[in-house]
Amino acid sequence: MKLQGRIALITGGGRGIGRAIALVFAREGAQVAVAARSLDQVEQVAREIADHYTTNALPIVCDVSDVESVERMFARATQNMGRSPDILVNNAGIAVSAPLTKTSDELWRQHLAINLSGTFYCTRAALPPMIERGWGRVINIASIAGKIGAPYIAAYSASKHGVLGLTRSAALEVAAKGITVNAICPGYVDTDMTTRALENIAKRTGLREEQALESIKQMSPQNRLVEPEEVAALALLLASEEGRGIHGQAINVDGGTVLY
Ligand code: NDP
Repeated sequence: MKLQGRIALITGGGRGIGRAIALVFAREGAQVAVAARSLDQVEQVAREIADHYTTNALPIVCDVSDVESVERMFARATQNMGRSPDILVNNAGIAVSAPLTKTSDELWRQHLAINLSGTFYCTRAALPPMIERGWGRVINIASIAGKIGAPYIAAYSASKHGVLGLTRSAALEVAAKGITVNAICPGYVDTDMTTRALENIAKRTGLREEQALESIKQMSPQNRLVEPEEVAALALLLASEEGRGIHGQAINVDGGTVLY
């Protein structure tokens, strides 16, 4: 088991990519804390882990855009799991599309607050004990929209570009301290977030949702959506001892949509 004895905290762990990462980390022996705003969803994931694996899982309610909520989450995880997390996965995120001229202050603020500031608050809280111990992993779930722009996602894309800047700068600060910091950049993944995007495209364009799905699939040279488990497999490599040489990277899991 690749994460035996490790403690992991996964934000946005109640469904989708975060859930898949939580399950794989638990399978590999990590104690896992899963955090999100919806208690029922994080409790459900904790139950799944308890049903399938021998490790404990801790559900935590947290809004990562609220710095005090983040501090409470770290205190709770540390108290319940015996020490602060060895592995932090900054996965919590939102994506709501809108033309730039119709992007409200609130929509813009929410994207930056959750996707970017949330990642910053959690990373800032996680690093000091990792530095003290001389071991740690920070894995940021960004997006290929952190590398390229696209119409109607200015707020989302700006927030994810920010996550890559944060990843690279943090990586250089802790490079010699036994800690790695990396980002994963998925293309469209088969989760609720993509279902909502399809509904939105259908509403905006008049396409049927199946047609919207086809158009999204065609953005990938593999002509398909990525599965959450594919993102989780890379997260596992980055979290493991074997992944220690991968540092400061932004790695795509997108079927070849973006080639840098
Ligand atoms: P989902 O919408 O399925 O899940 C998002 C998770 O984040 C939920 O658990 C949600 O729970 C949580 N979350 C949202 N806002 C907050 C908040 N303020 N505080 C704490 N938790 C929060 O999305 P995915 O699984 O698809 O996405 C996960 C990550 O992957 C996101 O960062 C997303 O940007 C990124 N990504 C997704 C892609 C896709 O195609 N799906 C492609 C590229 C990147 P709750 O609402 O209960 O808080």
